[in-house]
Amino acid sequence: MASPVIVIGAGVGGLAAAATLAARGVPVLVLERAAAPGGKMREITVDGARIDGGPTVFTMRWVFDELFAEAGTTLEDHLALQPISVLARHGWVTGGQRLDLFADIDRAAEAIGDFAGPANARGYRDFVARARRTYQALEAPFIKASRPTPISLVGRAGIGGAAKLLATAPFSTLWNALGEHFPDPRLRQLFGRYSTYVGSSPFLAPATLMLIAHVEQDGVWLVEGGMHRIARALEAVATGQGATFRYGAHVEEILVERGRAVGVRLADGERIAAQALVLNGDSAALGHGRFGTSAAGAVAALPRAKRSLSAVTWAAHVPTRGFPLVRHNVFFSSDYSREFTEIFERASLPTEPTVYVCAQDRGDDDSAIDGPERLLILSNAPARGDYRPFAEDQVTALEDATFAVMRRCGLEVERDPARTVRTTPMGFDALFPATGGALYGQAVHGWQATFNRPGSATKLPGLFLAGGSAHPGAGVPMATLSGRLAGAAVLQGLKR
Ligand SMILES: Cc1cc2nc3c(=O)[nH]c(=O)nc-3n(C[C@H](O)[C@H](O)[C@H](O)COP(=O)(O)OP(=O)(O)OC[C@H]3O[C@@H](n4cnc5c(N)ncnc54)[C@H](O)[C@@H]3O)c2cc1C
Repeated sequence: MASPVIVIGAGVGGLAAAATLAARGVPVLVLERAAAPGGKMREITVDGARIDGGPTVFTMRWVFDELFAEAGTTLEDHLALQPISVLARHGWVTGGQRLDLFADIDRAAEAIGDFAGPANARGYRDFVARARRTYQALEAPFIKASRPTPISLVGRAGIGGAAKLLATAPFSTLWNALGEHFPDPRLRQLFGRYSTYVGSSPFLAPATLMLIAHVEQDGVWLVEGGMHRIARALEAVATGQGATFRYGAHVEEILVERGRAVGVRLADGERIAAQALVLNGDSAALGHGRFGTSAAGAVAALPRAKRSLSAVTWAAHVPTRGFPLVRHNVFFSSDYSREFTEIFERASLPTEPTVYVCAQDRGDDDSAIDGPERLLILSNAPARGDYRPFAEDQVTALEDATFAVMRRCGLEVERDPARTVRTTPMGFDALFPATGGALYGQAVHGWQATFNRPGSATKLPGLFLAGGSAHPGAGVPMATLSGRLAGAAVLQGLKR
């Protein structure tokens, strides 16, 4: 029997690669060090309640529609999805204001007009149109392409497309571009936060990242039973096509013979031969020699300064009072620039963080809930979990500041360590080795950053990459696309 293609890691990128390959009749073995699929899309059990401890915003469902269709099934056969109309509810510490961003553009413009005046409402409409143009200019030549370079990007886009690409203002920062649309700094904060979806600062990220605003405007869905179900569904699709999964299987070394990746050695010493390998773990681990010295040259090592954001998260099953929560809520700090300077320039925890709260028992309905509810609370943090771990008192100070920000915005969340699971950059580094806790691969800072991510193929023949640290980048749909690109690259290699 032919050796399988081995996929190292069952994050969404690895799962997508496994499903893509298995659907083409390729024997696939997925080796995952954790006890369940999903990677960052993990489920945490707190006080008997199952809480999504990773991604919470589900967008770009077409990526999954295509993947499931290719495997001869449909997304609806596996998951129940429900669109939401309030994309997020926002509060500011600077004075009790509140703003809902609606999926419906007219409703959102009206809310923004009421909140910040007609100039900002007009600015919003212009911004939405620009974000859409940006997305459309980049979808085919960048997002869906295998390994774009600035030259290939322009080549694929053609002459008319090149003009559209330049109009996306790749050389301007997101923050400056937002200033062209929003006189009100609170709205610059609100839309600048989209850069954090890929672990980056709005003050350093290129304006092209406004495409994330378009992606959200295009639809956000709630997944019945939680986001973790997506991972389970992908696993079921891959298994249905013949893929095999082994959990608790930590790959210690990628075996190389005559300049080609030929298999793996597990932590218990077992060796497994492979006709090709797809690495879904962070590519930084490869560059830093975590898969052995022979494979280390397959990609360049990622300098610490280029890491994306980490986070401190609290998965809690506790009562709340005050601020009427919907599913997605954001509480903004008073000084956004200071927050990102602290994180990226000083590698310190923010003194006053912007706080995201996912209230997982809620959708658009903001009625009070009697008793405890399931929350994922997140504050951004620098990714130094491996080389300069934070002391307990530093993390406690961030926790105090996080709960103070929510309180100043009108939300009381009961602090109960017995009903809370906290994850720090050190914890994320332990889960995702060689990252320091960085959750989104390398930060997208400067226009070249998007081209610096490794593509599916590596310098080591037989070894391919899938996941948020590879092209087209982080986020559930992008990592899934990367898994599909890796699957296609493996298939191409097998044909030769
Ligand atoms: C708190 C949080 C919130 C987020 N919010 C959102 C959101 O709302 N929307 C969104 O789209 N994205 C969000 N993201 C980002 C998104 O979760 C990730 O970009 C995506 O899930 C990454 O998938 P991946 O394919 O890179 O694999 P990962 O999730 O990184 O999984 C990699 C897998 O490889 C395994 N592995 C690593 N090394 C080995 C080894 N040596 N042997 C065996 N197995 C190994 C790991 O155990 C892991 O399971 C969030 C992430 C976090 C953590």
